[in-house]
Amino acid sequence: MELNISNNFIENLPGDPIINNYRRQVNGACYSFVYPKSTASPEMIHTSMSMAKTLGMDASFLNSKEFLEMVTGNKVLPHTKPYAMCYGGHQFGHWAGQLGDGRAINLFEMAHNNKQWTVQLKGAGETPYSRSADGLAVLRSSIREYLCSEAMHHLGVPTTRALSLALTGDEVLRDMLYDGNSAYEKGAIVTRVAPSFLRFGSYEIFAAREDHKTLKILVDFTIKQHFSHLENPSKHVYVQFFSEVAKRTLDMIVHWQRVGFVHGVMNTDNMSILGLTIDYGPYGWLEGFDFGWTPNTTDSQQKRYRYGNQPNIGLWNLYQLANALYPLVEEVEPFEAVLETYKTNFEIKSLQMMRSKLGLQLEDEKDNSLIQALEDCLLLSETDMTIFFRNLSNFKRGKASEGLKIVTDAFYIPTEISAEKAQQWKDWFDRYDFRLEKETTSDDQRQEQMNRINPKYVLRNYMAQLAIDEANKGNYGIIDELFEMLKKPYNEQPQYQKWFAKRPDWARHKVGCSMLSCSS
Ligand code: AMP
Ligand code: MG
Repeated sequence: MELNISNNFIENLPGDPIINNYRRQVNGACYSFVYPKSTASPEMIHTSMSMAKTLGMDASFLNSKEFLEMVTGNKVLPHTKPYAMCYGGHQFGHWAGQLGDGRAINLFEMAHNNKQWTVQLKGAGETPYSRSADGLAVLRSSIREYLCSEAMHHLGVPTTRALSLALTGDEVLRDMLYDGNSAYEKGAIVTRVAPSFLRFGSYEIFAAREDHKTLKILVDFTIKQHFSHLENPSKHVYVQFFSEVAKRTLDMIVHWQRVGFVHGVMNTDNMSILGLTIDYGPYGWLEGFDFGWTPNTTDSQQKRYRYGNQPNIGLWNLYQLANALYPLVEEVEPFEAVLETYKTNFEIKSLQMMRSKLGLQLEDEKDNSLIQALEDCLLLSETDMTIFFRNLSNFKRGKASEGLKIVTDAFYIPTEISAEKAQQWKDWFDRYDFRLEKETTSDDQRQEQMNRINPKYVLRNYMAQLAIDEANKGNYGIIDELFEMLKKPYNEQPQYQKWFAKRPDWARHKVGCSMLSCSS
């Protein structure tokens, strides 16, 4: 298979002169050359045909031994030089110094249909950035990344993609709950694809080291390669660049809020400079609507990365990026203006997003209060976010009294809806019905619009876990079923109706379903 290979990153940016693979601080360089580790007996589990097509790869290539070897560390394509990227990051609010691709290795860049892509392996072995870890990934976390990144793409959420999921045949030791009980798990590698894997931390590391020379080279490269509609780099353009990153970051987070996605580890090393959802670790999907929920047990005390805090954390992370870019501009005000705009745009965009979830096309000054009242209702008892909004599209104008019945399936414990709570809901449906009178769309039109915004199928935490439990036994049927279903998350797909259901009771406190650690 002829791929249109290019090597922009390594050809245009300073690299680490040391080629031996040992852990170290890498100064003055954006990457280090490193080969993936060869694996014992690789086996393909799944490939994403839609991603492959976007890259111009055909089915026969995807099914070939050459492809399997390439994505499991056993073959490097001619004219390519794999590398790991150097970056730093703020983890849980604190500067953590150099992090870097500890277990990700970029194989090559390529172009197809005038689009530039980087193809990367996650879990392909040690790099100079592996610090105290092994550079490997286990099957469970690889399934979670593979399924979720493709699902997010089909939901219309900006994200890195996945091309393949393969077993390495090697065993990997992990202490899943950080409780001293280590066990061997199956090793796996996901092939990830994105226009770029640059992160906020890619810039922060040079600012922290006061290496303004490399910082400028990297920012200029980023603008030229990925923000090419901007003018040639100058102080003014650096601020424009920052402004665009802020906009993309906000858009991404508003999408997360819309579909109920909680990233779980919004450290600045996990924030893509292109505003893509990146690094699927202990992420989760809201089941019961709850601003305070986080799937990440490592963050269960502070809950820094809880659902309701994601927009604020986006802003906090942008402050860190602003600090990193400051030396190129040496003026505070333009950065402050961008961050202020983020705040106002957040208000505007989240209001717009919530309006669209309610099927409201027009604007009314009382919409904010209507939405606030709805959120109060949703918090009265555990209410499934996905089912609630999907079923709300069945609401008929003039039938406010039927509202509660329409959404009853969303309540985890229907008996919790006391007379008082039912009254609060009824009042809300009256307000909603009254508000809908202002709209010009019919019930059917509104339903159609709402069903394009409110997914029927998301990768619920327990669904990923079922796929993992089966895969650990060597059965990949659920991976395939979920993968197919999640390609069309807004469609009714009656054949998958069983997945349009509340989280089963057994999953409420099960490890992997509601509790996830960073161990992967
Ligand atoms: P995360 O926040 O999980 O995306 O990872 C934080 C940092 O730890 C990144 O620099 C990763 O490359 C690194 N890391 C995570 N897991 C491993 C591993 N198994 N081996 C080497 N480095 C890792
Ligand atoms: Mg990461």
